[in-house]
Amino acid sequence: MAFGKKRLFIGALPEKFINSNLPICPMCLNKTEWLHEQQFTFQGVRFRYKCLKCNCIISISRKEVLKYNDNEILILKTKKTRKEFQPLMGVEDMGKSKSDNLKVGYQYSLKDMKTLTGEILKR
Ligand SMILES: [Zn+2]
Repeated sequence: MAFGKKRLFIGALPEKFINSNLPICPMCLNKTEWLHEQQFTFQGVRFRYKCLKCNCIISISRKEVLKYNDNEILILKTKKTRKEFQPLMGVEDMGKSKSDNLKVGYQYSLKDMKTLTGEILKR
């Protein structure tokens, strides 16, 4: 399946997840737009995201996104400090980025990726 940015219901979940969590690319550290596609694997559906600025590709399983969303809602509803669920994201392609922070073939928690982009925001 090709990368696209379709305004279909099927695209709402992957799009919302990336835009609300990583408006800045953890690889090139630019404010970016993500193209996304869904990949069907034996382990289930994976969302793959491609940064329009550096062409890097990161991915996450649909299951992790759903679990993360459910947990966030639970925290909001109960207003209790619950153990944060940290989904893992894989790095599939570096694109044009020369980042030393992330490596292809490794998995990183969403929190780690956010931290990388958060440091840029503070500068
Ligand atoms: Zn990028």
